[in-house]
Order: sequence, then C-alpha cells, then structure tokens
Amino acid sequence: MSPRPDLGPKPALGYSAIAMDRAATRRSDGAFLASLEQDRAARAYAIGGEWVVMKKAGDSIDPLFTLDEACTLAAPAERVFLGLVDGVGRFGIGLEPAGAEALKGRDDLHVSDLRSIAVQGLTTADHLAAIAEAKAMLHWHARHRFCANCGQPSALVQGGWRRDCPACRAEHFPRTDPVVIMLAISGDRCLLGRQTRFVRGMWSCLAGFVEPGESIEQAVRRETLEEAGIVCGQVDYFASQPWPFPMSLMIGCHVEALSTDVTVDHSELEDARWFNREEVASMLLRRHPGGIMTPPPVAIAHHIIRAWVEDPGRA
Ligand SMILES: [Zn+2]
Repeated sequence: MSPRPDLGPKPALGYSAIAMDRAATRRSDGAFLASLEQDRAARAYAIGGEWVVMKKAGDSIDPLFTLDEACTLAAPAERVFLGLVDGVGRFGIGLEPAGAEALKGRDDLHVSDLRSIAVQGLTTADHLAAIAEAKAMLHWHARHRFCANCGQPSALVQGGWRRDCPACRAEHFPRTDPVVIMLAISGDRCLLGRQTRFVRGMWSCLAGFVEPGESIEQAVRRETLEEAGIVCGQVDYFASQPWPFPMSLMIGCHVEALSTDVTVDHSELEDARWFNREEVASMLLRRHPGGIMTPPPVAIAHHIIRAWVEDPGRA
C-alpha cells in the first residue's frame, strides 16, 4: 500500500454550512411572518431562475437586499421565508428571470449563476447555503403554480413551505429529489466517469436519481451497473449535500466493485475508467501532468473521492 498523500487542509462542502434557524414551527403563524416582513432589519436574497442578483459593495459583494429593494429590482414573483438569523427574518424573493438577467447591465449589481458564485467564492458559506435553499424553493414555486390534482391555481401558504389548492383542498409540499453519487472502488483503484457536459479534463463520481420503490443501496448498484457495467456489492454511506440544480439532495456513497470490466453507456457518459490512488491525488490537487482533474471542493464528489484517497480502506 502506498503512503497516504498529503492533500492539505480539508475544504468545506458547498451549499450546506447553514447557520440559519429554519423556524419551521413558526411557518404557520401568519402574524409572526407578517411582523418579520415589516421589520426594517429583514433581508432577502433576490433570485430570478438561475440568476442570483447581488450588490457590489466596494471590492466585496453583498447578497442581501431589504425586501423593498429586492422587489423593485425586477418584476417580483414568489416570496419565501427561509428562516431567522439572530431573530431577524431572512427571505428569498423570486424575480422574473429575464428581468433578473437584464440587471447584468447595472454597475452597482453583480448578477451571476449560483455555480459560478460558489466556485469563485464570491460569498460566505452561510450565504451560499441560504441562497441554495432560496433557489430550490423558488424554482419549485415557479413550476407548481397550479394544483397537480385538479389544475386550478394554487396559493402559496406557510411562508412558501406549502401550496394549497382552494378548489380541491389538496396540499402540495416543496420537493427535493434524491440523487445517489458514488465512488466504486476495486482494490487500489476507483472508477471515475465523464459526462459530455463536464468541463474539459474533469472526471467525477457516477451519479443518478433514486427511483420510486428503490433504496439508496439499490440505486447505487443499479446506476453503477447501468452507466459503467460494474457489478457492485457493499455500499457505505458517506455524507449528503443539498444540490439546488434545480432541487436535489446528493447522497454520497462509497461502493465495493465486484467486477472490473468497464462497459460505458454512452447515452449517459462520455467515458468511464479506473484510476489509481496516486493519479487521483494529483487530480484533487490539480497537479496531474495530463491536466485532468476532479470537481472542486464545493461539490460532494470532491469529498467522496478525497475520503477514499486519504483512507483507502473504504469499501
Ligand atoms: Zn386542486
């Protein structure tokens, strides 16, 4: 067994370091929510589809607006209550996406997509997690304005944590879609794949949506078999990450490979192959002589891969 590579300090996982109190038990208290909205200290994130609107503040960037400011940036859509920060309300305000994109022309604003904001480190981990929450919620509302049961317009209630249908009385709750993301391991090698949409040189864990009636373990084995033809055994849960593209929960696992012959499903992947630990360490550190690399630390894939490199006894 080769010596443990020195990968340096462990980086933070993106979109998940939230310090906000979700105050879930207060969401049904309309008077409480109204008082939070009327408080001049209340702040909001402004999001139009994929576009996050932020203020330029000297050399830094401030993602927070007053509620009135946020609503005048572009045509406002839904408003969701995210939680409390030091007892003060924090909200997400949806903007009409084309209107948000048009704000790119303003010198006092920075308009960008959330992936870029995360990778470029434009805001703090707390803001990043709260913006992710707001983006996922607002996306759900934008696509669920009508009752899925009877087709009538539904109404946002409980600060955005439910939509009620006045016609058939159905209640609809914001959804998050479970996705398994896994690193298959065979001895001193791990399996990485490339999706066609990846940036040049990027290799990552395989991933796929959990299907109805399926356990996490079954989804891990099915996806690895479908995408790369690898039969898998023991599945070990590692960690999870909210992934607001548009509204998923990534469930990170290590999995024992029982076979090694790779058969790539080209409808899912551009390529997949085995990598040894030294090669993967250099990819994590972005020092691979061939210029290939793993995803950045903002993504859970980086952490799943790194955990195996640092502890090859996994799976
Ligand atoms: Zn209905």
